This record gives sequence, structure tokens and C-alpha cells, in this order.
Amino acid sequence: MNMMSPAPAEREIAPGKVWLVGAGPGDPDLLTLRAARLLMAAKVIVHDGLVDARILAMAPAAARLISVAKRRNRHSMPQDEINALLVAEALAGRDVVRLKGGDPFVFGRGGEELDACRAAGVDCEVVPGISAALGAAAAARLPLTHRDSASVVSFVAGQCKGLTEQDWRGLAGPGRTLVIYMGLANAEAIAAKLIDEGLAPETAVAVIENASRPEMRVVRCALVGLGETVAGQNLRGPAVIVVGAVAARDGRDFELRALALEGVS
Ligand code: SAH
Repeated sequence: MNMMSPAPAEREIAPGKVWLVGAGPGDPDLLTLRAARLLMAAKVIVHDGLVDARILAMAPAAARLISVAKRRNRHSMPQDEINALLVAEALAGRDVVRLKGGDPFVFGRGGEELDACRAAGVDCEVVPGISAALGAAAAARLPLTHRDSASVVSFVAGQCKGLTEQDWRGLAGPGRTLVIYMGLANAEAIAAKLIDEGLAPETAVAVIENASRPEMRVVRCALVGLGETVAGQNLRGPAVIVVGAVAARDGRDFELRALALEGVS
């Protein structure tokens, strides 16, 4: 008998498919239609801690929800175990909706999960989501690019191996917007690094916490005061830090104007 051929029972199971689905920044209205459709038809959902409870509540009552929540310094499930879980579920014949905050391919380790599926011969499809930078910018009414103030926008991870060795020069400064994900814990070091790399200490910064959620906060400061502001305002995240002239724009002007228009109609 050829030991390489699978047992008949195994051979009969058609593998399921893994969907890497972006859940956006929080507000369920910011899901794509494709994400909502998949979620509402899902049998197995593997989700991160960042996925909003209101979104999880859209899953069918019978769906199996598996949390692989990760918090800084507290990994409840290591990435290789998440990869193995997705592959095992699919090989057992089940379709899996892998729900991730924001977009799966922006600091979401979606690439690693895609690779694991590929290596195991499991079909994997990616559904993009609204990444935190975009959701936060919209919610706070801070255009990431603007003809008057920025024509370049960069996303960086503020919590990663060798932060200080990373070269961020050219990512921030006049005409540029820098959006830092996962930066709160290192806020002070990040500000010092940017100033060290040549950025003016008075460069405008906006910290947008819990974007698109009811508890959203937008806090502004100068780059030099970032560490103090994060501590003083008790910013705990999730939050993005926006560095550059666009961060100085005051979104409240727009709110007031919208209210005035409502009064007219
Ligand atoms: N894949 C996600 C990012 C995951 S990394 C995306 O595309 O958005 C986690 C970081 O995303 C957090 O530390 C924070 O910087 C940012 N983030 C996620 N949700 C957010 C929200 N609602 N408001 C502000 N920042 C958020």
C-alpha cells in the first residue's frame, strides 16, 4: 500500500476556503458589502480582539466564533497557531471567515496567513477593509493628502523590532503626512526619533483613538509634547498618530457648518 495516499475518508472531504476579511476600524457601517455578506453567512469565524463587538453580533447565532485576540505583550494565540488553526479548519472541510481589524494586509499579518494557506493547498481569498488610518482620518475630518499641505502619505508601525534603527527620514515633514499605527506605548520615543531625524519639534500631531466608535477621541499637540499628551490624556488606544500639517486642521469647523446647513433646510 502506498503510504502517501490519503485514507479514503480523508480523500472525500473537499477542503474549505479561508476568507481573510477586513472588518474596518469599528463602525459596522464601514464593512464592505462583501465582508458583511460573508460574515452573515459564516459558520466558522476566527477573529482578532480589535474586531468590534457590534460586527461580531452580525454573525449567525449558530456560527462558531473563535477569538485569537492579541494585545501588546500578551499574545493569547501565537501567529503560527493561528495559521495552523485556519488550515486545520479548512482541511476539515469548513469555510473560515478570518476577520481582522481594518485591512488584512496593513499591519494585519494577513500575508503570513495567506502564505500558510497556500503552503497547505488551501484556497484563500482576501477581502479588503478600511484601514485605521483611513477610517480615523475620515472620522476626524483630517484629509491625509491635501493640495495645500500634503502630497505624500506613509503608514508605519510604531511598535516593531528595532524601532530606533528604522529609518523614517523623508516620511514626515513639509508636504508629508505620517500615520503611525501601534504607536501609543512608544509615543515619547517616536517623537524623539522623529525630532532626531530632523523634524521640527512644533510639527502638528493628532492622535485619533477609537476611530469610528462611539468613544472616539481626537487629541492634538505638538510633536515635542506627544509623550506627555499621551500619558496626560490617558490615551490607551487603539489609536493612530497623525504627524504633519494636516493634523492641525480643525475638523470641528466642518461639524459646525453641517449643523448650520441642517438648520437652513
Ligand atoms: N489591520 C489593521 C491594523 C492592525 S494593527 C488596519 O488596517 O487598521 C493595530 C493598530 O491599528 C492599533 O494599534 C491602532 O494603531 C490601529 N487601529 C485599529 N483600529 C483603530 C481605531 N478604531 N482607531 C484608531 N486606531 C486603530
